[in-house]
Amino acid sequence: MAIDKSVDAEPYHEGMEDIGTDTLDCVLEKASKLDPYSFSDRDVRRALSSETVDDAGFAALLSPAAEKYMEKMAERARDERLRHFGNSVCLFTPLYISNYCTNGCVYCGFNSKNHINRAKLDLGQVEAELKAIADTGLEEILMLTGESRTHSDIDYICESVSLASKYFTNVGIEVYPMNSDEYRRVQEAGADYVTVFQETYNPERYAELHPYGNKRIFSYRFDAQERALMGGMRGVAFGALLGLDDFRKDALRCGLHASELQRRYPHAEISLSLPRLRPFKHHEDEQIPVGERELLQVSLAYRIFMPYAGQTISTRERPRFRDGIIGLSATKMSAGVSVGIGEHSGKSKGDGQFVISDPRNLEEIVGSIRNAGLQPVMNDYVRT
Ligand code: SF4
Repeated sequence: MAIDKSVDAEPYHEGMEDIGTDTLDCVLEKASKLDPYSFSDRDVRRALSSETVDDAGFAALLSPAAEKYMEKMAERARDERLRHFGNSVCLFTPLYISNYCTNGCVYCGFNSKNHINRAKLDLGQVEAELKAIADTGLEEILMLTGESRTHSDIDYICESVSLASKYFTNVGIEVYPMNSDEYRRVQEAGADYVTVFQETYNPERYAELHPYGNKRIFSYRFDAQERALMGGMRGVAFGALLGLDDFRKDALRCGLHASELQRRYPHAEISLSLPRLRPFKHHEDEQIPVGERELLQVSLAYRIFMPYAGQTISTRERPRFRDGIIGLSATKMSAGVSVGIGEHSGKSKGDGQFVISDPRNLEEIVGSIRNAGLQPVMNDYVRT
Protein backbone atom coordinates (compact mmCIF):
# COMPACT_ATOMS: atom_id res chain seq x y z
CA MET A 1 0.00 0.00 0.00
CA ALA A 2 1.35 3.47 -0.87
CA ILE A 3 2.09 5.62 2.14
CA ASP A 4 -0.21 8.62 2.14
CA LYS A 5 1.48 11.68 3.65
CA SER A 6 -1.37 14.02 2.70
CA VAL A 7 -2.37 14.09 6.38
CA ASP A 8 0.71 16.19 7.15
CA ALA A 9 0.42 19.99 7.23
CA GLU A 10 3.99 20.29 5.89
CA PRO A 11 6.81 18.01 4.69
CA TYR A 12 9.06 16.13 7.11
CA HIS A 13 11.64 18.37 8.73
CA GLU A 14 15.30 17.62 8.18
CA GLY A 15 16.47 14.60 10.14
CA MET A 16 13.00 13.08 10.68
CA GLU A 17 13.06 9.38 9.90
CA ASP A 18 10.42 7.93 7.57
CA ILE A 19 10.09 4.23 8.35
CA GLY A 20 7.79 3.63 5.39
CA THR A 21 5.14 1.85 7.44
CA ASP A 22 1.51 1.79 6.34
CA THR A 23 0.13 1.58 9.90
CA LEU A 24 -1.35 5.07 9.71
CA ASP A 25 -3.11 4.41 6.40
CA CYS A 26 -4.45 1.18 7.77
CA VAL A 27 -5.80 2.76 10.98
CA LEU A 28 -7.37 5.75 9.23
CA GLU A 29 -8.95 3.51 6.65
CA LYS A 30 -10.45 1.21 9.27
CA ALA A 31 -11.72 4.21 11.25
CA SER A 32 -13.28 5.79 8.15
CA LYS A 33 -15.63 2.80 7.89
CA LEU A 34 -16.78 3.05 11.51
CA ASP A 35 -18.87 5.98 12.70
CA PRO A 36 -19.49 5.78 16.46
CA TYR A 37 -22.72 7.75 15.92
CA SER A 38 -24.26 5.14 13.65
CA PHE A 39 -24.67 2.23 16.10
CA SER A 40 -27.87 0.95 17.66
CA ASP A 41 -28.78 -0.74 20.95
CA ARG A 42 -28.64 -4.04 19.13
CA ASP A 43 -25.04 -3.44 18.07
CA VAL A 44 -24.06 -2.63 21.64
CA ARG A 45 -25.76 -5.76 23.00
CA ARG A 46 -24.10 -7.86 20.32
CA ALA A 47 -20.67 -6.47 21.24
CA LEU A 48 -21.25 -7.14 24.91
CA SER A 49 -22.29 -10.72 24.30
CA SER A 50 -19.36 -11.62 22.03
CA GLU A 51 -16.38 -13.36 23.53
CA THR A 52 -13.93 -11.03 21.77
CA VAL A 53 -14.87 -7.59 20.55
CA ASP A 54 -13.89 -6.65 16.99
CA ASP A 55 -13.33 -3.14 15.61
CA ALA A 56 -17.04 -2.62 14.93
CA GLY A 57 -17.94 -3.83 18.42
CA PHE A 58 -15.41 -1.40 19.88
CA ALA A 59 -16.98 1.47 17.93
CA ALA A 60 -20.42 0.40 19.18
CA LEU A 61 -19.18 0.52 22.79
CA LEU A 62 -17.98 4.08 22.21
CA SER A 63 -21.29 5.16 20.70
CA PRO A 64 -24.01 7.27 22.32
CA ALA A 65 -26.20 4.13 22.11
CA ALA A 66 -23.89 2.43 24.64
CA GLU A 67 -24.50 5.08 27.29
CA LYS A 68 -27.46 3.21 28.69
CA TYR A 69 -25.40 0.00 28.94
CA MET A 70 -22.72 1.46 31.17
CA GLU A 71 -23.47 -0.94 34.02
CA LYS A 72 -23.20 -3.95 31.73
CA MET A 73 -20.00 -2.52 30.26
CA ALA A 74 -18.62 -2.02 33.77
CA GLU A 75 -19.38 -5.65 34.69
CA ARG A 76 -17.71 -6.95 31.57
CA ALA A 77 -14.72 -4.63 32.02
CA ARG A 78 -14.30 -5.68 35.65
CA ASP A 79 -14.29 -9.35 34.64
CA GLU A 80 -11.72 -8.76 31.91
CA ARG A 81 -9.54 -6.70 34.20
CA LEU A 82 -9.62 -9.42 36.86
CA ARG A 83 -8.83 -12.16 34.34
CA HIS A 84 -5.81 -10.37 32.89
CA PHE A 85 -4.47 -8.30 35.80
CA GLY A 86 -5.93 -9.83 38.96
CA ASN A 87 -6.24 -7.33 41.79
CA SER A 88 -3.04 -5.48 41.07
CA VAL A 89 -2.78 -1.73 40.57
CA CYS A 90 0.64 -0.51 39.42
CA LEU A 91 1.93 2.74 40.84
CA PHE A 92 4.36 5.24 39.38
CA THR A 93 5.11 8.91 39.47
CA PRO A 94 5.94 11.34 36.68
CA LEU A 95 9.11 13.43 36.98
CA TYR A 96 9.23 16.61 34.92
CA ILE A 97 12.87 17.51 34.28
CA SER A 98 12.43 20.37 31.79
CA ASN A 99 9.54 22.49 30.59
CA TYR A 100 11.21 24.11 27.57
CA CYS A 101 9.24 23.48 24.41
CA THR A 102 9.50 24.60 20.81
CA ASN A 103 5.96 23.63 19.85
CA GLY A 104 2.88 25.79 19.90
CA CYS A 105 0.09 23.44 20.98
CA VAL A 106 -2.73 25.85 21.67
CA TYR A 107 -4.12 23.80 24.58
CA CYS A 108 -0.91 23.45 26.62
CA GLY A 109 0.71 25.52 29.35
CA PHE A 110 4.22 24.66 28.04
CA ASN A 111 3.43 26.24 24.62
CA SER A 112 6.57 28.16 23.61
CA LYS A 113 4.65 31.45 23.44
CA ASN A 114 3.08 31.02 26.88
CA HIS A 115 4.81 33.15 29.53
CA ILE A 116 5.68 30.69 32.27
CA ASN A 117 8.72 30.07 34.43
CA ARG A 118 10.95 27.86 32.30
CA ALA A 119 13.48 25.53 33.88
CA LYS A 120 15.60 22.51 33.16
CA LEU A 121 17.17 20.42 35.89
CA ASP A 122 20.89 19.75 35.67
CA LEU A 123 21.94 16.14 36.21
CA GLY A 124 22.69 16.73 39.90
CA GLN A 125 19.18 18.11 40.36
CA VAL A 126 17.70 15.20 38.38
CA GLU A 127 19.45 12.77 40.71
CA ALA A 128 18.22 14.65 43.80
CA GLU A 129 14.66 14.36 42.49
CA LEU A 130 15.12 10.67 41.72
CA LYS A 131 16.46 9.96 45.20
CA ALA A 132 13.63 11.87 46.85
CA ILE A 133 11.05 9.89 44.88
CA ALA A 134 12.78 6.52 45.37
CA ASP A 135 12.83 7.19 49.13
CA THR A 136 9.02 7.14 49.12
CA GLY A 137 9.10 3.48 48.02
CA LEU A 138 8.07 3.93 44.37
CA GLU A 139 9.91 1.72 41.87
CA GLU A 140 8.58 3.04 38.57
CA ILE A 141 9.14 6.47 37.13
CA LEU A 142 8.04 8.32 34.01
CA MET A 143 10.53 11.01 32.95
CA LEU A 144 9.01 13.95 31.07
CA THR A 145 10.25 17.00 29.24
CA GLY A 146 8.67 19.63 27.06
CA GLU A 147 9.52 19.03 23.41
CA SER A 148 12.77 20.90 22.83
CA ARG A 149 15.62 19.06 21.17
CA THR A 150 17.86 22.02 22.02
CA HIS A 151 17.21 22.18 25.76
CA SER A 152 16.69 18.43 26.25
CA ASP A 153 18.91 16.79 23.66
CA ILE A 154 19.31 13.03 23.33
CA ASP A 155 22.47 13.02 25.48
CA TYR A 156 20.62 14.78 28.31
CA ILE A 157 17.71 12.35 28.06
CA CYS A 158 20.05 9.32 27.99
CA GLU A 159 22.00 10.59 31.00
CA SER A 160 18.81 11.29 32.94
CA VAL A 161 17.39 7.86 32.06
CA SER A 162 20.63 6.20 33.05
CA LEU A 163 20.43 7.90 36.46
CA ALA A 164 16.79 6.86 36.77
CA SER A 165 17.64 3.22 36.12
CA LYS A 166 19.96 3.29 39.18
CA TYR A 167 16.99 4.02 41.43
CA PHE A 168 14.00 2.50 39.61
CA THR A 169 13.24 -0.90 38.11
CA ASN A 170 10.88 0.47 35.49
CA VAL A 171 11.67 3.67 33.58
CA GLY A 172 9.40 5.32 31.04
CA ILE A 173 9.90 8.43 28.96
CA GLU A 174 7.41 10.94 27.65
CA VAL A 175 9.49 13.35 25.58
CA TYR A 176 9.53 14.45 21.92
CA PRO A 177 9.13 11.72 19.27
CA MET A 178 12.52 10.39 18.16
CA ASN A 179 14.01 8.37 15.32
CA SER A 180 14.43 4.63 15.86
CA ASP A 181 18.21 4.85 16.39
CA GLU A 182 17.65 7.52 19.05
CA TYR A 183 15.06 5.33 20.78
CA ARG A 184 17.66 2.56 20.75
CA ARG A 185 20.16 4.80 22.52
CA VAL A 186 17.63 5.75 25.18
CA GLN A 187 16.59 2.11 25.58
CA GLU A 188 20.24 1.11 26.04
CA ALA A 189 20.56 3.86 28.64
CA GLY A 190 17.84 2.14 30.66
CA ALA A 191 14.39 3.13 29.36
CA ASP A 192 11.71 0.45 29.23
CA TYR A 193 8.77 2.17 27.61
CA VAL A 194 7.74 5.22 25.64
CA THR A 195 4.56 7.24 25.91
CA VAL A 196 3.44 9.48 23.06
CA PHE A 197 0.02 11.07 22.95
CA GLN A 198 -1.27 11.75 19.46
CA GLU A 199 -3.53 14.40 21.07
CA THR A 200 -6.14 14.22 18.28
CA TYR A 201 -6.29 11.66 15.48
CA ASN A 202 -8.16 14.05 13.19
CA PRO A 203 -5.43 15.40 10.85
CA GLU A 204 -7.30 18.63 10.03
CA ARG A 205 -7.97 19.46 13.66
CA TYR A 206 -4.40 18.43 14.49
CA ALA A 207 -3.06 20.98 11.98
CA GLU A 208 -5.16 23.76 13.59
CA LEU A 209 -3.98 22.90 17.09
CA HIS A 210 -0.29 22.60 16.21
CA PRO A 211 0.56 25.73 14.25
CA TYR A 212 4.37 25.33 14.29
CA GLY A 213 7.23 23.16 15.51
CA ASN A 214 8.15 19.53 14.86
CA LYS A 215 4.85 18.42 16.30
CA ARG A 216 3.10 19.83 13.26
CA ILE A 217 3.99 16.66 11.34
CA PHE A 218 1.06 14.36 12.15
CA SER A 219 2.45 11.15 10.66
CA TYR A 220 5.90 11.52 12.27
CA ARG A 221 4.21 11.63 15.66
CA PHE A 222 1.83 8.81 14.78
CA ASP A 223 4.72 6.48 13.90
CA ALA A 224 6.63 7.23 17.12
CA GLN A 225 5.54 4.07 18.96
CA GLU A 226 6.49 1.94 15.99
CA ARG A 227 9.94 3.56 15.81
CA ALA A 228 10.28 3.02 19.58
CA LEU A 229 9.55 -0.69 19.16
CA MET A 230 12.01 -0.86 16.25
CA GLY A 231 14.52 0.75 18.63
CA GLY A 232 14.05 -2.06 21.14
CA MET A 233 11.64 -0.56 23.65
CA ARG A 234 9.69 -3.13 25.62
CA GLY A 235 6.49 -1.14 25.85
CA VAL A 236 4.63 1.74 24.25
CA ALA A 237 1.71 3.81 25.48
CA PHE A 238 -0.93 5.64 23.49
CA GLY A 239 -3.37 8.43 24.25
CA ALA A 240 -5.72 10.92 22.67
CA LEU A 241 -6.22 14.09 24.66
CA LEU A 242 -9.98 13.76 24.90
CA GLY A 243 -11.82 16.99 24.29
CA LEU A 244 -9.63 18.42 21.53
CA ASP A 245 -11.97 16.97 18.92
CA ASP A 246 -14.91 14.54 18.95
CA PHE A 247 -13.86 12.30 21.82
CA ARG A 248 -15.67 9.19 20.51
CA LYS A 249 -13.87 9.36 17.17
CA ASP A 250 -10.51 10.11 18.80
CA ALA A 251 -10.89 7.23 21.26
CA LEU A 252 -11.84 4.93 18.37
CA ARG A 253 -8.75 5.83 16.34
CA CYS A 254 -6.51 5.64 19.38
CA GLY A 255 -7.75 2.12 20.23
CA LEU A 256 -7.38 1.03 16.61
CA HIS A 257 -3.84 2.43 16.54
CA ALA A 258 -2.90 0.47 19.69
CA SER A 259 -4.51 -2.74 18.49
CA GLU A 260 -2.93 -2.51 15.03
CA LEU A 261 0.53 -2.17 16.55
CA GLN A 262 -0.19 -5.04 18.91
CA ARG A 263 -1.05 -7.15 15.85
CA ARG A 264 2.17 -6.14 14.08
CA TYR A 265 4.41 -6.38 17.19
CA PRO A 266 2.87 -9.16 19.31
CA HIS A 267 5.68 -9.03 21.88
CA ALA A 268 5.10 -5.35 22.68
CA GLU A 269 3.60 -4.32 26.00
CA ILE A 270 0.82 -2.00 24.99
CA SER A 271 -0.97 0.45 27.21
CA LEU A 272 -3.53 3.18 26.84
CA SER A 273 -3.80 6.43 28.75
CA LEU A 274 -6.90 8.46 29.38
CA PRO A 275 -5.95 12.13 29.43
CA ARG A 276 -8.73 14.65 28.99
CA LEU A 277 -8.46 18.37 28.50
CA ARG A 278 -7.96 20.19 31.79
CA PRO A 279 -7.39 23.81 32.77
CA PHE A 280 -3.77 25.03 32.44
CA LYS A 281 -1.73 28.10 33.29
CA HIS A 282 -3.51 31.30 32.14
CA HIS A 283 -6.55 29.21 31.04
CA GLU A 284 -7.73 28.04 34.46
CA ASP A 285 -11.42 28.82 33.90
CA GLU A 286 -11.97 27.12 30.56
CA GLN A 287 -14.83 24.65 30.05
CA ILE A 288 -14.09 20.95 30.29
CA PRO A 289 -15.64 19.37 27.17
CA VAL A 290 -15.51 15.69 28.24
CA GLY A 291 -17.21 14.76 31.52
CA GLU A 292 -16.38 11.91 33.89
CA ARG A 293 -19.15 9.71 32.56
CA GLU A 294 -17.84 10.00 29.02
CA LEU A 295 -14.31 9.33 30.23
CA LEU A 296 -15.52 6.23 32.03
CA GLN A 297 -17.25 5.00 28.88
CA VAL A 298 -13.99 5.31 26.93
CA SER A 299 -12.06 3.50 29.65
CA LEU A 300 -14.56 0.62 29.74
CA ALA A 301 -14.61 0.36 25.95
CA TYR A 302 -10.78 0.24 25.85
CA ARG A 303 -10.75 -2.49 28.50
CA ILE A 304 -13.31 -4.66 26.70
CA PHE A 305 -11.69 -4.18 23.29
CA MET A 306 -8.08 -4.74 24.44
CA PRO A 307 -8.51 -6.69 27.68
CA TYR A 308 -4.77 -7.40 28.04
CA ALA A 309 -3.58 -3.78 27.53
CA GLY A 310 -2.50 -1.70 30.51
CA GLN A 311 -4.50 1.42 31.22
CA THR A 312 -3.34 4.50 33.10
CA ILE A 313 -5.45 7.06 34.90
CA SER A 314 -3.70 10.33 35.72
CA THR A 315 -3.94 12.88 38.50
CA ARG A 316 -5.81 15.14 36.12
CA GLU A 317 -8.81 13.26 37.61
CA ARG A 318 -10.19 13.68 41.11
CA PRO A 319 -9.58 11.04 43.81
CA ARG A 320 -13.11 9.58 43.87
CA PHE A 321 -13.14 8.98 40.15
CA ARG A 322 -9.66 7.43 40.15
CA ASP A 323 -10.50 5.18 43.09
CA GLY A 324 -13.59 3.95 41.25
CA ILE A 325 -12.05 3.35 37.85
CA ILE A 326 -9.11 1.26 39.10
CA GLY A 327 -11.51 -1.46 40.17
CA LEU A 328 -13.17 -1.57 36.76
CA SER A 329 -10.78 -0.89 33.93
CA ALA A 330 -7.64 1.11 34.77
CA THR A 331 -4.59 -0.85 35.92
CA LYS A 332 -2.08 1.86 36.69
CA MET A 333 -2.17 5.17 38.49
CA SER A 334 0.26 7.92 39.35
CA ALA A 335 0.86 8.81 43.00
CA GLY A 336 2.62 11.58 44.86
CA VAL A 337 2.51 13.76 41.76
CA SER A 338 4.20 17.16 41.35
CA VAL A 339 4.02 18.62 37.87
CA GLY A 340 6.38 21.56 38.57
CA ILE A 341 10.08 21.25 37.75
CA GLY A 342 12.17 20.20 40.75
CA GLU A 343 9.33 20.03 43.27
CA HIS A 344 10.06 16.59 44.74
CA SER A 345 13.33 17.52 46.39
CA GLY A 346 12.75 21.18 47.15
CA LYS A 347 11.27 24.36 45.80
CA SER A 348 9.72 24.40 42.35
CA LYS A 349 12.09 25.79 39.72
CA GLY A 350 9.59 25.96 36.88
CA ASP A 351 5.82 25.94 36.25
CA GLY A 352 3.75 22.79 35.73
CA GLN A 353 1.95 21.68 32.58
CA PHE A 354 -1.60 21.39 33.92
CA VAL A 355 -3.66 21.53 37.10
CA ILE A 356 -3.76 18.28 39.08
CA SER A 357 -6.93 17.15 40.82
CA ASP A 358 -5.53 14.38 43.02
CA PRO A 359 -2.73 15.67 45.24
CA ARG A 360 -2.62 12.59 47.53
CA ASN A 361 0.76 11.23 48.50
CA LEU A 362 1.84 7.64 47.97
CA GLU A 363 0.76 6.46 51.40
CA GLU A 364 -2.74 7.86 50.94
CA ILE A 365 -3.10 6.31 47.48
CA VAL A 366 -1.86 2.93 48.74
CA GLY A 367 -4.45 3.14 51.54
CA SER A 368 -7.27 3.87 49.07
CA ILE A 369 -6.24 0.97 46.83
CA ARG A 370 -6.21 -1.43 49.77
CA ASN A 371 -9.58 -0.12 50.99
CA ALA A 372 -10.99 -0.99 47.58
CA GLY A 373 -9.79 -4.60 48.05
CA LEU A 374 -7.04 -4.20 45.46
CA GLN A 375 -3.31 -4.77 45.65
CA PRO A 376 -0.87 -1.87 45.15
CA VAL A 377 2.14 -3.00 43.11
CA MET A 378 5.36 -1.00 42.92
CA ASN A 379 6.93 -3.07 40.19
CA ASP A 380 5.64 -5.76 37.87
CA TYR A 381 8.87 -6.30 35.95
CA VAL A 382 12.16 -7.99 36.81
CA ARG A 383 15.22 -6.72 34.92
CA THR A 384 17.50 -9.49 33.69
S1 SF4 B 1 1.71 19.50 24.63
FE1 SF4 B 1 3.87 18.92 24.68
S2 SF4 B 1 4.65 19.63 22.73
FE2 SF4 B 1 2.75 20.72 23.05
S3 SF4 B 1 3.34 22.68 24.00
FE3 SF4 B 1 2.87 21.18 25.61
S4 SF4 B 1 4.82 20.27 26.17
FE4 SF4 B 1 5.07 21.27 24.18
